[in-house]
Amino acid sequence: MSYQHQYSDGTHIHFPLGKVVCIGRNYAEHAKELNNPLPSEPLLFIKPGSCVVPLDGGFCIPQDRGVVHYEAEIAVLIGKPLSRNPSPEEIRDAISGFAPALDLTLRDVQARLKEKGLPWEIAKAFDGACVLAPFVPGDAVEDVTDLGIRLTINGEVRQDGNSRDMLHPILLMIQHVCGHFSLQAGDVLLTGTPAGVGPLNSGDELVLELLGHTRFDTRVV
Ligand code: ZN
Repeated sequence: MSYQHQYSDGTHIHFPLGKVVCIGRNYAEHAKELNNPLPSEPLLFIKPGSCVVPLDGGFCIPQDRGVVHYEAEIAVLIGKPLSRNPSPEEIRDAISGFAPALDLTLRDVQARLKEKGLPWEIAKAFDGACVLAPFVPGDAVEDVTDLGIRLTINGEVRQDGNSRDMLHPILLMIQHVCGHFSLQAGDVLLTGTPAGVGPLNSGDELVLELLGHTRFDTRVV
């Protein structure tokens, strides 16, 4: 299904979908569960726009490339261009929305790549690897340092995180990203996953929430 940015009230957002900039190991508890050291500066990677699918109505996972892990993350939609060294105020003003998202990962493939010191793209950038829910408007979120994300699978809460526990908070993370890549309207940031990642299976029923803002039901088809 083709993807277009939209707000949770159904309004279309007229920015073209750009790149998805992701941060790895942004919650200490998650780094620990995968036995990864804590990075001293943000560990960044990019998912291309081609891997983004809407959360509405269910999504598919690859069947033939090993274990697929879910990573529930707070997604941030950029609505104005940002380049080197924007102030936190400029960054806040450039944020058009927040949404819950899934950063899907071929964990077995990623483990092999990590072992060899190779880039992660084939584990992180396959078609369908970024599942995005509709966004709540940026100004609907009062405090970006207190934003909760929760993933429930088949009735059981698997991930329950809050942006206050991020090693690199959202605005500072975006400032860091801008030191490496310019951001355009329509780009998305995935801000890292809290502890509790695990495998997805066909038929799983998911509830993805941006606490106090939005809640979506979806499934693995
Ligand atoms: Zn992730």
